[in-house]
Amino acid sequence: MTPWNNWAGNVQASPDATVQIDSEQHLADTVAESQRPVRVRGAGHSFSPLLEVNSGSHLCLNNLNHVSAEAGAPRSARIGAGVRLHELTPQLNRMGLALDNMGDIDAQALGGALATATHGTGQTLPCYSAMLEEMVLIDGQGQRRRLRRDLDEELFRAMAVGLGTGGILAEVVMSLVPTYRLSKRRFRISLEELLSDFSEQMSAARHVEFFYILHSGHALGLASDLTDQPVTDKPEDTDQKGLLQLRQAARLLGWAPPLRKRVLAAALRSHSSEQFVADWFQAFASDRGRIRFNETEYHLPADAAPDAIRELIDCLERNFPEVYFPIEIRSVRADDLYLSPFYQRDSVSVAVHHEATKPFAPVLAAVEPIFRRYGGRPHWGKSHTLTAGELRSLYPRFDEAVAARRELDPKGLFNSPYIEQLLGL
Ligand SMILES: Cc1cc2nc3c(=O)[nH]c(=O)nc-3n(C[C@H](O)[C@H](O)[C@H](O)COP(=O)(O)OP(=O)(O)OC[C@H]3O[C@@H](n4cnc5c(N)ncnc54)[C@H](O)[C@@H]3O)c2cc1C
Repeated sequence: MTPWNNWAGNVQASPDATVQIDSEQHLADTVAESQRPVRVRGAGHSFSPLLEVNSGSHLCLNNLNHVSAEAGAPRSARIGAGVRLHELTPQLNRMGLALDNMGDIDAQALGGALATATHGTGQTLPCYSAMLEEMVLIDGQGQRRRLRRDLDEELFRAMAVGLGTGGILAEVVMSLVPTYRLSKRRFRISLEELLSDFSEQMSAARHVEFFYILHSGHALGLASDLTDQPVTDKPEDTDQKGLLQLRQAARLLGWAPPLRKRVLAAALRSHSSEQFVADWFQAFASDRGRIRFNETEYHLPADAAPDAIRELIDCLERNFPEVYFPIEIRSVRADDLYLSPFYQRDSVSVAVHHEATKPFAPVLAAVEPIFRRYGGRPHWGKSHTLTAGELRSLYPRFDEAVAARRELDPKGLFNSPYIEQLLGL
């Protein structure tokens, strides 16, 4: 047995074996010969128990990390699904190519990011899975399946957000854009101004996100637009320092909410706007590692977001003075993938984080009903409690997506007890 835990430490697994895969053929042979369950592991950055198993094996695809130009398609690249995003992005940059958008970190494996519809922010920009042009999957019988967006419409859409079920991504072709540079601006905004003018605020730049500082009445904004200006020095990454200060305020002033509010508001008033320019592959990811956390994130219909955010903040500020991580608010464009939380819906993603050493279940139990009342769909890779019965009503093509998995993996080799509950497989 090789014990394993995820990044946050809230999910454990004890697979019988952990297999390092060296090639697509090795992957196909390993799957074909497996008699016990198989789960494919990326970088282990999901908070939901997608990789929880007590038997069978974990497959690691780190060595499937090739990146090459795609003949006849100058804005695409063929990429091994095991590549880590931070390995991929400088290589794409050297080829004059770029991902149109990225999330907060670049530690994930590409296959892991695609399998859970990982996303960044931008009203006109979809999640990573929507950048897929082609998938090379190894199905539950060890057979190679090549699915193309333009040729295999139904099966492609059913499998593009895969959760490591139905098939394992060995290689993908991603739709890319020419390299670009972003001018990033950090600024402060009151909650009232943000929520009363929400749609304008979220569309004020190519990428906009807000971090609401609980108990302060204010949010920090981050807005980025394309620029031709030269790269400037990146200002010191103050996110982690800021978090330590918020933790301190929660510890010292958690008993006195009005005082905490005054102290935080004063600290934020002194936060001046700053601007810098960075190449695309150095513009998105930040250091999120020093204080580990648990997280839930729901994707809400864009119109419902301001009311839901107000209710959420009220709930957290009243009932959980110990929660100090900012509430993260982002936008994601709709897509057409059956298990994408953005399926046919422009969304606003709202995330609640809590220090990993503290119990997260009570926080989740308090915020989930709010997210659900507003029609939220949970991030597949973050903590939530929904199972197939509830998910079916949120995803119009849920049954087709499940049927596709049964077809590709009739013996359920890629299932686990959690996956069976989640998808009703
Ligand atoms: C600090 C931190 C910051 C984060 N920031 C963001 C963010 O900005 N935006 C966002 O949307 N999410 C974010 N996440 C969540 C994260 O992007 C997702 O959970 C993602 O799935 C993790 O990728 P991974 O490589 O670690 O995958 P894992 O957690 O290892 O696996 C996730 C799923 O992918 C499947 N999988 C992995 N590889 C393959 C493959 N080759 N073929 C098929 N299935 C595969 C696994 O079986 C599993 O079901 C963050 C998480 C952390 C811890």
